[in-house]
Amino acid sequence: MNNQARSNKTAGAENQRRRDIPAVERVLQALGEVDLPRPAVVAIVRRELAALRSEKKIPEFDGVLDRIRSSLHALRSARIQPVINGTGIIVHTNLGRSPLGPTVVEALQTAAASYNNLEFDLTGGERGGRAAYLEHNLALLCGAEAATVANNCAAALLLMLRHFTSGEQKEVIISRGELIQIGGGFRIPEILEASGAKLREVGTTNKTALSDYSKAVGKQAAMILKVHRSNFFMGGFVESPATEDIAALAKQKRLTFVEDLGSGAVVETEKLTDIEHEPTPAEVLKRGVDMVCFSGDKLLGGPQAGILAGKEKLVAALKREPFFRALRCDKLILSALETTVDLYLTGRAQETIPALTMLRASTEELQSRAEKIKVALEALPMKTVIGEGKSQIGGGTLPRSAIPSVTLDLQPLNISVTDFAARLRGGSPPVVGYVAAGRFKLDLRTVFPPQDEELFRAIHSAFATRTS
Ligand SMILES: *Cc1c(COP(=O)(O)O)cnc(C)c1O
Repeated sequence: MNNQARSNKTAGAENQRRRDIPAVERVLQALGEVDLPRPAVVAIVRRELAALRSEKKIPEFDGVLDRIRSSLHALRSARIQPVINGTGIIVHTNLGRSPLGPTVVEALQTAAASYNNLEFDLTGGERGGRAAYLEHNLALLCGAEAATVANNCAAALLLMLRHFTSGEQKEVIISRGELIQIGGGFRIPEILEASGAKLREVGTTNKTALSDYSKAVGKQAAMILKVHRSNFFMGGFVESPATEDIAALAKQKRLTFVEDLGSGAVVETEKLTDIEHEPTPAEVLKRGVDMVCFSGDKLLGGPQAGILAGKEKLVAALKREPFFRALRCDKLILSALETTVDLYLTGRAQETIPALTMLRASTEELQSRAEKIKVALEALPMKTVIGEGKSQIGGGTLPRSAIPSVTLDLQPLNISVTDFAARLRGGSPPVVGYVAAGRFKLDLRTVFPPQDEELFRAIHSAFATRTS
């Protein structure tokens, strides 16, 4: 075969392959009704058909349809939807951190559906300050002269770093033991660099003395940053100076002293259940820190936000930063956070904020729920045992504190534990648990009691599912 003939032959095969790729319209018709916006469905179909062009052999029509259906399923399951959290991790970043309670949701709904006085002074009839009510009450809750909010704690930190290092002095002094990474892609050294600040590391990973800080203070020093270690702890040969001592040094050298508290509980966590004490903004500020930041949706149990609290002069200066405008919260967040703060100020937080009620649930309560669910599962081809679990706060909070909990340990007889877990994730609502010792476990502490029925129905459906 000469070259011409060979290329004719390949061109012929290529044309044949093209003809084997079904038309978009035909696929759409075969798919029938799909519960996704039509442009999204069309886009997926086009993408999958285009992908076929680079394949050696085009599958049969049904095979093509299957592939498209599974792409549509992947898109559909990425839509934000309620998930039953059986992981036992209360502040689960992948599952949306803190759920909001009914009072907060109601406030959110009202704010969302109507006009409001977001930046309007109803007494004077003129333009008013944004978040004035929230800032007033938030400062009280934090035992601070003043407070404000940004998008999240990372934004709050970025804002402070930018502002306090915007002058000639660019150095931020931080202990090597606090150069941490929190969750996916949030690294303290990187955020520092992104802000334009210059990192000045002091001490060693396990030991930092006050003299390390004082030796580092030079002409370039702008601020001292302390970062709550959050998701890990160090034991053994460790040392770090008292906050009061660092505060005194900062004052003497005229540096701003900031602490990133991460979660920052505003209640005494050790009184909620058998866990350690998480430093509160009020006590940290009292020790002489100029300003703290912490997340709104970790232990505080509110919406995503970054709370900034401390000296009035500093808060006012931060609010004048052009960056502040870019990092500000919207009306929905402000209204949810305002309501959350008021729940604390009126002493109703522990009964109404889901993160706190979950934390306080007794193992007896969980045990009796587990027994009821177990009975309801009896008919299924599965071994069900009530086990002991260890719930965690999560979100980088109190990594050492494990809260005794109760789990449903499920061992399906006709399918593997992994397949079973996949079926539950693919159900409606999806259920997320964890696999340990060959069993699928559901920690009931993070399952809302009214979800028990949904949970057992979801487990039933997992057995009814033929294909996963
Ligand atoms: C979680 C955490 C952050 C990030 O908070 P976001 O609100 O998610 O931006 C920052 N610092 C510390 C110490 C944290 O634990």
